[in-house]
Amino acid sequence: MKAIVVREFGEPEVMKIEEVETPRPSGSQVLVRLNAAGVNPVETYLRTGIYPNPPKLPYTPGKDGAGVVEAVGDAVTRWKGGDRVYTANSITGTYAEYCLCEEADLGRLPDNVTFEQGAGIWTPYATGYRALFQKAAAKPGETVLVHGASGGVGIAAIQWLAGNGYTVIGTASSKDGLDLIHANGGNAAFDHTDETHFAQIKEFTGGRGVDVIVEMLANVNLERDFDCLAMRGRITVVGSRGSLQFTPRLAMTKDATIYGMSLFNSSQDERDEIHRAVFEGLSRGSLDPVIRLSIPLSEAASSHHQVMESKALGKIVLIP
Ligand code: NAP
Repeated sequence: MKAIVVREFGEPEVMKIEEVETPRPSGSQVLVRLNAAGVNPVETYLRTGIYPNPPKLPYTPGKDGAGVVEAVGDAVTRWKGGDRVYTANSITGTYAEYCLCEEADLGRLPDNVTFEQGAGIWTPYATGYRALFQKAAAKPGETVLVHGASGGVGIAAIQWLAGNGYTVIGTASSKDGLDLIHANGGNAAFDHTDETHFAQIKEFTGGRGVDVIVEMLANVNLERDFDCLAMRGRITVVGSRGSLQFTPRLAMTKDATIYGMSLFNSSQDERDEIHRAVFEGLSRGSLDPVIRLSIPLSEAASSHHQVMESKALGKIVLIP
């Protein structure tokens, strides 16, 4: 089979397409024939080799993908050949024609969802769900700010909230990004490159502030988030690409809670809960992954440049 192989850490161009042996499932493993693989920022960090717990070389990147079950190990009980699935982790990596997964790391892909969309499910929707509900415990009636709502996780978070009794605010830095927030059910959208957007958000809430913030770039925003956070507000830090000077008194005076989260730390029970919610939302149509770019697997290097360098507008997927 064809797969992207990383033999040395470095720039996106270290990802090369190679002919490798197709893996075989054993025990509780499932072999998935992939129709699409999802690209996430974390794969770019891992590729540099300086992120905590770097993969052992050589490796094939990717945890997210979607396709059809090709073969199953003899202990597999939940899946059979031909099932449409999305992946929520992978033993061998999803930037490939086939990948091996543990059976617990697959979710059922409803017939109304394309494989390209399926490749954009797990990391974005699971992160959005965990940040909103398993961490910040967002409740209908509350006002939620998705700070960085034009990308994979942000759009997923907006979709989890829209139509469920929340006041939903998103931010982006392009006109298309702002439009996307409204198109996905956001009640208001602001430009996070405008220094006054914190004040604008507070004004939008009538001066009360937002109850929950899902923060995609904490090293830039965490201190200023308190300008628009309500009393007893909660912030979940999802993304951060550096450090900042922070005044703890801000959290103290608002009785605020700051949660950190990494999807890698989720328990199997938490993941099972997310799979159930994802299947229900996809089947109902309230979750509808937005694909901005679909390119051949051989162009994986370009996908890593684009996910880090261009304005976000949904997911980038690779087609084997
Ligand atoms: P993405 O698709 O590349 O989107 C990045 C988002 O960040 C876009 O909405 C972008 O908006 C926004 N952004 C840029 N500058 C910003 C600013 N100053 N303030 C607020 N938002 C800003 O990435 P993603 O997949 O959604 O992931 C978002 C972040 O979460 C990444 O850092 C990723 O590594 C992290 N993440 C963490 C976990 C976890 O387990 N903790 C899981 C998944 C992702 P514009 O492009 O419109 O400016």
